[in-house]
Amino acid sequence: MKKIQMVDLKGQYQGIKEQVNSAISEILDSSSYINGPEVHSFQAELEKYSDVAHVIPCGNGTDALQIAMMGLGLQPGDEVITADFTFAATVEVIALLQLTPVLVDVYPDTFNIDVNAIEKAITSKTKAIVPVHLFGQCADMDAILKLAQKHNLYVIEDNAQAIGATYTAMDGTKRKAGSMGHVSATSFFPSKNLGCYGDGGAIFTNDDKLAHTLRGIVNHGMYERYHHDVVGVNSRLDSIQAAVLRAKLPRLDAYNAARREAARKYSKAFEAQEHIVVPKTACTSDGICETCDCHVFHQYTLKITNGKRDALVQRLGEMGIPCGVYYPIPLHKQKAYADERYNENDFPVTNQLVKEVISLPMHTELDDEQIAYITDTVIEFVNK
Ligand SMILES: *Cc1c(COP(=O)(O)O)cnc(C)c1O
Repeated sequence: MKKIQMVDLKGQYQGIKEQVNSAISEILDSSSYINGPEVHSFQAELEKYSDVAHVIPCGNGTDALQIAMMGLGLQPGDEVITADFTFAATVEVIALLQLTPVLVDVYPDTFNIDVNAIEKAITSKTKAIVPVHLFGQCADMDAILKLAQKHNLYVIEDNAQAIGATYTAMDGTKRKAGSMGHVSATSFFPSKNLGCYGDGGAIFTNDDKLAHTLRGIVNHGMYERYHHDVVGVNSRLDSIQAAVLRAKLPRLDAYNAARREAARKYSKAFEAQEHIVVPKTACTSDGICETCDCHVFHQYTLKITNGKRDALVQRLGEMGIPCGVYYPIPLHKQKAYADERYNENDFPVTNQLVKEVISLPMHTELDDEQIAYITDTVIEFVNK
C-alpha cells in the first residue's frame, strides 16, 4: 500500500508536471514576475468559472478577508458576526481592523454558522455577517442573505474551503460558492481545493464600484500611479502562482469529484456505525451525495461520539494514518479572542464539536486500498 498522506500534493503534481514546469519556465524567461499576463488570464478564467463579475487576486486568503472588509468601509467599533467554529483567520482580520468580532455557535450536523444564533446577535452596531463555508460546504445562504437584507447588513463569504461547491437555493437556482455575498474571499494555500505552490488568494464581487475600490486597496490605495487616495496594503498574487493555478483550474471539478468519491466511500463504510457520525451534505442526510457538488470536502470530518476521539487520533498515528482535529479550541476560548461578552451557554455545539471531530486523509489521490485500511482501522478501534 502507498504511504497515506493527509494531503497528497506531490501525487497531484505528477499529473500536471510538464504543463506547470513549462509555464513557470516561460515566466522565468519573461521576467514578468508581478502582475504579468498569467495573473490577468487567471483572473478572467476564475471569473468565468465562479460566475462572478470581478475577481481581484491578492496575496493570501487572510488578506482577501481583510481587504474585503476594508473595501466595504467598515469602521472601528462596527460589529461583525461570524462562526465560533472556524480557522482563526476569519476573526483575526476583524479584530485587526478594530471591528468588534461577534462569535456565534454553529449547527451540529453541517458545522456551519447557526442562523438563529446570528439573528440573536444582531444589534444596532452590526454591519456584516461572515459565513464560513466550512470544510467545503456552503453555509445556509438563503437564510443568511434574507436576514442580511432585513437588517441592511453586508455578507462577506469566507470561501477559503469551498471553491467549486454549488449552493442550491430554495427556489432551485444553483449558485457557485463565493458568488452570493456582497463580497467573498478565497485562499489558494497549497492544501486548499484549488491550491498554488506558495501563498495566494482572491476577492470576488459582482459590484463594479466595490471591485474598483478593492483593486486600489490591494495596491497601496493607488488608483492612478503614485496617487494614494485611501490607505491600502500590498497584497499580490505573483505570476508563478497564477501559472500553477491556471494549470489546476480546468481540473478543479475533477479534483473535487475525486474528493467526493473518497468521501462517499468513507461514508458508506461508516454507515451503520453507532459511535461514528459522518458529515451531512445539504442534499442528503447520510453524507453520501452521489449526484451533485453541494460539498467539495476540503475536509472529511467525522464525529466520534463515545469519548474515544483523542485515543483514536493516537491510534491512527501508530497505524501510519495521518489525521487532524479541526478545530480543537472554540475561537471564543482562544486567548486572543476571549471576551467577557461571551456566555458559555451560547456555544453548546462548538463546545461539543471540539471534543468529537476528527478529519481523515482527504485529497485527490486516495485509492480503495488506502480507504479500506483507514475505515477498518477507525471502526475496529472505536468499537473496541
Ligand atoms: C485557509 C483559510 C483562511 C486563510 O487563508 P490563507 O491563504 O492561509 O491566509 C481563511 N479562512 C478559512 C476558513 C481558511 O480555511
